[in-house]
Amino acid sequence: MINFVQQEIENDLKAGKYTEGIHTRFPPEPNGYLHIGHAKSVCLNFGLALHNGGLCNLRFDDTNPTKEDVEFVDSIQEDIKWLGFDWGDRKFFASDYFGKFYDYAVELIKRGLAYVDDLTAEEIRAYRGTLTEAGKESPWRNRSVEENLDLFTRMKAGEFPDGSKVLRAKIDMASPNINMRDPVIYRITRATHHHTGDDWLIYPMYDFAHPLEDAIEGITHSVCTLEFEDHRPFYDWLLDSLGFDVNTRPRQIEFARLDLTNTITSKRKLRQLVEENHVRGWDDPRMPTLCGLRRRGFTPAAIRDFCERIGVAKSNSVVDIAMLEHCVREDLNDSADRVMAVLDPLKVVLTNVNDGVEYLAAENHPKRGGSRFVPFTREIFIDREDFMEDAPKKFFRLKPGGEVRLKHAYIIKCNEVIKNTAGEVVELHCTIDPTSKSGGATAGRKIKGTIHWVSAKFALPAEVRLYDYLLTTDAQGNLPEDFIAALNPNSLIVKQALIEPSVRWTNAGTHYQFLRLGYFFVDPDTTPDKLVFNRVVGLKDTWAKVKDR
Ligand code: ATP
Ligand code: MG
Repeated sequence: MINFVQQEIENDLKAGKYTEGIHTRFPPEPNGYLHIGHAKSVCLNFGLALHNGGLCNLRFDDTNPTKEDVEFVDSIQEDIKWLGFDWGDRKFFASDYFGKFYDYAVELIKRGLAYVDDLTAEEIRAYRGTLTEAGKESPWRNRSVEENLDLFTRMKAGEFPDGSKVLRAKIDMASPNINMRDPVIYRITRATHHHTGDDWLIYPMYDFAHPLEDAIEGITHSVCTLEFEDHRPFYDWLLDSLGFDVNTRPRQIEFARLDLTNTITSKRKLRQLVEENHVRGWDDPRMPTLCGLRRRGFTPAAIRDFCERIGVAKSNSVVDIAMLEHCVREDLNDSADRVMAVLDPLKVVLTNVNDGVEYLAAENHPKRGGSRFVPFTREIFIDREDFMEDAPKKFFRLKPGGEVRLKHAYIIKCNEVIKNTAGEVVELHCTIDPTSKSGGATAGRKIKGTIHWVSAKFALPAEVRLYDYLLTTDAQGNLPEDFIAALNPNSLIVKQALIEPSVRWTNAGTHYQFLRLGYFFVDPDTTPDKLVFNRVVGLKDTWAKVKDR
């Protein structure tokens, strides 16, 4: 692992800091499911700990009582484990530290560094100033320590209505950094918290709580996304003001968040997709959530590989989703067995084949080998796309009078095209060249095209779900503002497909390559009577092409 955060860690270690070891954390707010952007943060935080022989905590940053839910606490743990990381016995909840946060706030007041303010939220906003204008001090700013302690205690005791008072850090209303203009650190909210119930009527603000959570847990490197860069001065101010030793206390390091083309990485928008039923749920295979990617058939190895390859930078950029697809393709290319399936069946009658069945050996994997038998019969199905009546010269699949090889089987020739009254092709009559059996003595006869097929008699019906992006994006990867109106109506196409019988006893969670069609994953909707497959990705690798240019 070589990235600038690792570099910073090494610099710190060389400077004699953090002699107790490196300690990171992944701090999700349990208000949604983890998505591919979070995976970058998970891989980075747990990866840094592993690389430096340190530890990484899982911390639920649940200081906001109104938006959070246990459902998310469970899913987040499942997803991190699935990605392959382990927090050991260090699962923490920020809400467990509410008492400590309170004590630290009292300590700030005692040091003359925090005050109770009676300004309304609107007034506070108005007093804050702008980027070009200094802010204005609140008339309550110079309350005595005693008065502040008394008021803060009474805020906690519930003597004041919601929103009537706040506790603010006393820093500098003229600071060029607006985050340093006496930020609010506690507010009154009568809300039931999913972890602490009705114990608290006052809640700490994120910027106040986060550095303290880090310090309480002995975190050394608090890695977060770039939008917190302007908050770092307050992070440092708070810990320094409370007397934490600069050689051991946590430091914040910001990195660029992951944005992907064609991909929504806003929890709010993902939630909207679920709540308004634009998708089947958080684990809909079109969702960029980890549970969605898992259900689609993405592998943890592929996602970790992707997170490693995109690297960690200090400026934001948009990553081409083709790169993620490339990673999963590479992984599945090695691991997935090959089988044959037909998505748009077109019947082919092989007029010189009798009614029996011939079992043909078929290789399972080009590198790992292994084989199975596929039944070959007089009637088969091919994919409609592989036949063209008025074919251009370069069409090397089946056309009237033309020849093509059936994978693992014979070369066939198309002699007759049968149509219905509407003029649509419904059946082809072909003959096999019996001397051309795959692996046989004359099998080497030159023929340009090879197509997949299944036996009409033995093929199994299967529901195959083909996915496309939920959204199309422009070249910069910008999502349209009204993203609901821009949803791709063809993001899910369901096919009633036919698949070779070798997969009859397959299990949910198994990967295959359907020859020429892509990588597929057995969906949990599969039952003993019904096979359901998700297409993970097609075979065409647009990323590999970009890379080789
Ligand atoms: P919210 O707006 O609710 O805070 P969030 O996406 O930041 O949403 P968190 O639960 O706070 O969600 O995220 C947990 C961690 O994952 C944070 O450290 C956050 O910086 C990081 N993270 C979130 N989104 C991304 C992303 N797209 N790329 C990299 N890291 C991310
Ligand atoms: Mg966040």
